[in-house]
Amino acid sequence: MPIFNLIYKPIYQVFQAIFQLIHKQQYGSLYSRLLLSYLLVIITILGAFSTAVYALVARDRHQQLNTALRQIAAASASTLEIIHHEYEEVTREKKYQGYIPRNADGNFPPISLRQLMDKYRFKSLQYFVPNSRISAEQGIEWFNSQQQLMVREGSLFPPKSLPKVVPPKGQIIEQGNIRSFILPVYAAAKPEQSKSEHLLGYVRVTKSMDLLNTELHQFRQKLIIGVMIISGLVTMGGFWLTHQSLQPILQSFEQLKQFTSDASHELRSPLTAIRASIAVMQSHPERVHPADVEKLKAIASASAQMSQLVEDLLLLARMDRQTPDRTPWRHIALDEILEDLVDLYSDRAEEANLKLQSQLIPNLEVYGDPAQLSRLFTNLLVNALQYTPSGGTVTVSLQRHRTHALIRIEDTGIGIAPDQLPHIFDRFWRADQARSQQQGGSGLGLAIAKTIVQTHGGDITVHSQLGQGSCFQVKIPLP
Ligand code: ADP
Repeated sequence: MPIFNLIYKPIYQVFQAIFQLIHKQQYGSLYSRLLLSYLLVIITILGAFSTAVYALVARDRHQQLNTALRQIAAASASTLEIIHHEYEEVTREKKYQGYIPRNADGNFPPISLRQLMDKYRFKSLQYFVPNSRISAEQGIEWFNSQQQLMVREGSLFPPKSLPKVVPPKGQIIEQGNIRSFILPVYAAAKPEQSKSEHLLGYVRVTKSMDLLNTELHQFRQKLIIGVMIISGLVTMGGFWLTHQSLQPILQSFEQLKQFTSDASHELRSPLTAIRASIAVMQSHPERVHPADVEKLKAIASASAQMSQLVEDLLLLARMDRQTPDRTPWRHIALDEILEDLVDLYSDRAEEANLKLQSQLIPNLEVYGDPAQLSRLFTNLLVNALQYTPSGGTVTVSLQRHRTHALIRIEDTGIGIAPDQLPHIFDRFWRADQARSQQQGGSGLGLAIAKTIVQTHGGDITVHSQLGQGSCFQVKIPLP
């Protein structure tokens, strides 16, 4: 995962920030995920395409170099017999004694064509190697059949001697940035001779690969710049395409939210009427048939639960609006909210045989909606008390962390399984359906908490270990 953290995550966060700016905090992650997937596919295709183009061009250029080496070698091979003859004369015949001074070891050093032919006053190299001009970047060497170097032309020669066995079709050898082609040269075969018997010698042609490498390097740079420019254009196009493709989805999403909001609103009045009627009936128990008392209690509890659900849905619908209502926002001390909550729930904790403790730094103010913030911490605290078995501890702490207020609600409860953690903030999601059903939750508590934190520009995370406990951490920016 380090690559993910290093590359994907920062890009994702930048896109998310841009989209949140454009769409006023909404759907930032949805847009970013879609755009990043789109860019990932396009850039992968672009990368694969340019790598393939580069590989093909490089292969082609290397083959061109090899062909040039083979052509020069073939042309040089036709002169080997004459050169061999002339060299033998110069080194063996008495009249040329001293023409080539011997080395200290008594052998003859390799000489140039010019030196060799000076005895006839033939000065032209072109005569021997037709169609070739020997540049400073190349060299040709003629060897006899014992692999002794006789004559050489040019200025680039590989330091290594010839390999012992050279295939009849020749062999390409690369050393550092030079490439050589070695071609064995044979005389026209007589039937009784074996191949090795009519071997005349070898020709080795060497060329520098500097030019080729420079060309390929420049080509690679141009390809990279091209890919970068296209990626930039694709990114710009991607913003527009993402926007266009998400429009219909977002529209139906908005309609769905509006429907939820309207439906909850419409349910509110009849529910209030039902609850009021039940309250009236319960206030006159003598009028209720004794057999119906329990049923009435069940109806009262179910309608209270439904009212809570409708209120939660309405709250979410209100917070989902593109521009949240900030009229109730003000500067508020977080330690006061948390202190009040701890006081409020201390009896409940005692009843459940739980230790409820707090570590709060004083006078830490944030700017926000006091009712919403109180609701946020209530949801977290109620969950912590609800999902911690008797004898456990719940700790509420408040600290300053650089530019944020850091609130932790930690418990020693049942914990959450790692595979369930990513879903914990989803609407209507509960870790264990049967257990949560018993506890009477709706699965909206954490979704509401997350929406409130996001409305306040903060961040909520959870660390949990099954059977050990959970820690919900809320970060809210300081004003
Ligand atoms: P609910 O109304 O069911 O509590 P929430 O949205 O508040 O809904 O929580 C969703 C689910 O996350 C819960 O059903 C529970 O399984 C799990 N959960 C939340 N808080 C805790 C906690 N402190 N410890 C263990 N599980 C938790």
